[in-house]
Amino acid sequence: MTSPLSIATRLAQPWSDGAGPITPPIHQTSLFAFDDYAAFEARMMGASDEPLYTRVQNPTVAAFETMMADLEGGAAAVAFASGMGAISATLLALARPAARVACVEHVYPDTYRLLERMLRPMGVEVSYHPPAAFAEDANLLRGVDVAYLESPTSMVMELIDLPRTAAHAKRHGALTVIDNSWATPVHQRPIEAGIDVVVHSASKYISGHSDTVAGVVVGSAEAVGRIRDMTLPLLGAKLAPFEAWLLVRGLRTLVPRMRMHEATANLFVDRLATRPEVTRVRSPGPNATPGLSGRSGLLSIELADGIDIPRLADALKHFRLGVSWGGFESLVVPAAITLKQSGEKNAPQRFGVSPRLVRLSLGLEDAEDLWTDFAAALDAAAT
Ligand SMILES: *Cc1c(COP(=O)(O)O)cnc(C)c1O
Repeated sequence: MTSPLSIATRLAQPWSDGAGPITPPIHQTSLFAFDDYAAFEARMMGASDEPLYTRVQNPTVAAFETMMADLEGGAAAVAFASGMGAISATLLALARPAARVACVEHVYPDTYRLLERMLRPMGVEVSYHPPAAFAEDANLLRGVDVAYLESPTSMVMELIDLPRTAAHAKRHGALTVIDNSWATPVHQRPIEAGIDVVVHSASKYISGHSDTVAGVVVGSAEAVGRIRDMTLPLLGAKLAPFEAWLLVRGLRTLVPRMRMHEATANLFVDRLATRPEVTRVRSPGPNATPGLSGRSGLLSIELADGIDIPRLADALKHFRLGVSWGGFESLVVPAAITLKQSGEKNAPQRFGVSPRLVRLSLGLEDAEDLWTDFAAALDAAAT
């Protein structure tokens, strides 16, 4: 499955061999017609896999799926209208009533809400575990059907040892699923570490341009087949052809974008360490856990008690205040706002965040411009 060519080269491959368009056409159609009765019947009976209806199959969407399967080193991929569309379709297909799901603590908040508000009431047993426990406790996954992972975890950026976790899961017959949105296949390829299924919010680095909300699942033909046969057609959260085309376009520059995000993040990590206002930097880098080969531009910092976080946010000129991340533009999210908004009992423990935490998404602006802006805002927030 793993190609001898580097990801950068594979992403630059033209869509078609030889003459013809080098990007895929946008198949902006709901349905595909058949030549004759026999061809229509063959498709309906599953004897051919000609495109039939865009809810389940569309060539532009397939172009994106093929690229993602290749990048992650999986046999198959299936795209969705959002990251949550991909995550809910995966968990609803793989964790049936009475199944046991072991989820990492401090998971993406809407994934937590999906597990608590939808899967648990449907009879799925859910437990949460610290990231380190998945590798350290060889028996954690005994009797578990699905291990749901994120590494690093949302906001607090804690890491899981994926090869060891995958080995334990295989011994216990548990299926492993990981949200790889932060690292992207440029920095981490979980399937090569033995993880079964990778999900992405493609709204983030995969798109890279803050103009699309999308998701994708990559994995074995069997796991992706279950999703494609059940939750893709029946929940119907399919990706639109035009958005698939935007994602193919975004993917072309994934590697240089990730390198630039990484260079800026390295600069920030070095300089944040010299600032007394910053008590902690959460930004996993290369080899912080087995298989992680780079640092992305999404990191969190914690600020000392006297630092006025609203003043910091309002002093920034090149960082916008907004959710999401992974685009060309730099963003900040003060955790105090998300904690207040969530209103959930135990939210700080559930999501692992302190109200002193601020998440930064470093974009593609010049790194020195960003640092100058951020350092000035820290000065303003300290006075
Ligand atoms: C944004 C995000 C999601 C949800 O993706 P959407 O495309 O917004 O539905 C899932 N996981 C992580 C880690 C995210 O940051």
